Amino acid sequence: MNIVIVGAGAAGLMAAATAAAACRERAVESRVVVLEKNRKAGVKILMSGGTRCNLTHDCGPAGIMEAFGNGGSFLRQALAILPPAAIVQLFNSLGVATQVESTGKVFPTSNRALDVRDALLRYAIEAGAEVKLGVTVKSIETAGQQFVLRMDDGDMTADRVIVTSGGRSYPGCGTIGEGYGWMKSFGHTIVQTRPALVPLVGGEAWMHEISGVTLDHVCASVWSAPEPGKKADKRPLMSRPGGFLFTHLGYSGPTAMDVSGVITAAGDPAKTRLTLDLVPDKSVVEVESWFEKSRQREGSRKVVAALTDWIPRRLAEAISLDAGASDSTFAELSRTAMTKLGSHLKRLPLPVTGTRGFEKAEVTGGGVSLREVDPRTMQSRLVPGLFIAGEILDLDGWIGGYNFQSAFSTGYIAGHHAAMQG
Ligand SMILES: Cc1cc2nc3c(=O)[nH]c(=O)nc-3n(C[C@H](O)[C@H](O)[C@H](O)COP(=O)(O)OP(=O)(O)OC[C@H]3O[C@@H](n4cnc5c(N)ncnc54)[C@H](O)[C@@H]3O)c2cc1C
Repeated sequence: MNIVIVGAGAAGLMAAATAAAACRERAVESRVVVLEKNRKAGVKILMSGGTRCNLTHDCGPAGIMEAFGNGGSFLRQALAILPPAAIVQLFNSLGVATQVESTGKVFPTSNRALDVRDALLRYAIEAGAEVKLGVTVKSIETAGQQFVLRMDDGDMTADRVIVTSGGRSYPGCGTIGEGYGWMKSFGHTIVQTRPALVPLVGGEAWMHEISGVTLDHVCASVWSAPEPGKKADKRPLMSRPGGFLFTHLGYSGPTAMDVSGVITAAGDPAKTRLTLDLVPDKSVVEVESWFEKSRQREGSRKVVAALTDWIPRRLAEAISLDAGASDSTFAELSRTAMTKLGSHLKRLPLPVTGTRGFEKAEVTGGGVSLREVDPRTMQSRLVPGLFIAGEILDLDGWIGGYNFQSAFSTGYIAGHHAAMQG
């Protein structure tokens, strides 16, 4: 049996290892080949997590599913077979010791993404898979019960094909979305692709002036823009707590990137509103009463100085200036300025005009419709023998190791079932 896997990323290498291992276990005469256009395997693993590779998240399957929103339940069966704990165990057994950070992110103890990539590549090769580098697949077609893969230097036939060619994010890595065209030619629906986990563009002049200011513990929320004549929604479309960064073009950091997918999913940034809670541990009432008490008890204290107990000085100065409270003491603070400052602290509006696009998106939202893929096997419901795994699927999760976990789990069961069938 010939199994060909297109793309040697996290999903493809994992699929190759499990397919080769399953063929060997069944003593089936087989050839498992991975075709990769880059001259290196696992390019995105190498660059991931700032070259440290956040390979999964320290949580149960439910925590992983939550990170994928509506698509999360598609991962249920794959995560039941290969949950985060099994990924950690697998990499440990491959010689990659891991550590969990306080955020729950799991990294190799060596902090070297190279160790993760090398271990996975070795795992696939030792299981019996061949990894061919520098080979670009141009198209995939069916030929009776088989598949024909066309490449510049000839064709290859396969009994099973596993497509793990990734999405459109970071196209400089080779991921330019060719897989969507192949899937369309097989009759699959491609849910409109869009950048996700992407830095946002926008902001007022004062926000750009504080470019480089980082906040460790804030909460970003995306709201539906109120329609004319209708009341604003009481609940946000999505909220994410964590770190944030003001940039010269807009906003970045985990919270901004996590909520970016909801903004791009709306199609037009004007359809949503982004706000930042600078003091998520304090309620609106607590902030208001803090202002009142400070006016009564600390009238001579500068407002900016007091705010630096909570937020960095540059941000405290900027929001005070914007609220009309620059250099004021609490005694001098007007009611209007106090209300605006309180509102900035709890719901700072962050204008968004766009994103940095696929060039800077860590993942692709949209992709092969999940309805057309069997979640127990990752086999296409339309084309027997065709398996689809990893980022090419309509799945995008938060920052934190969730996306590699999804690629590993879906790749694992795709490889296993491709080998067990027939
Ligand atoms: C900068 C950055 C940092 C990231 N950090 C993290 C992190 O720390 N943790 C995390 O969970 N996620 C992270 N991600 C997301 C993660 O990299 C992806 O979710 C993951 O790589 C998807 O795996 P995949 O195997 O589906 O696709 P990919 O890793 O994209 O692999 C697809 C492979 O297919 C190959 N290919 C494509 N077309 C063809 C073709 N025509 N012929 C042959 N080969 C082809 C590509 O060259 C590529 O090697 C990061 C992403 C980026 C861009």
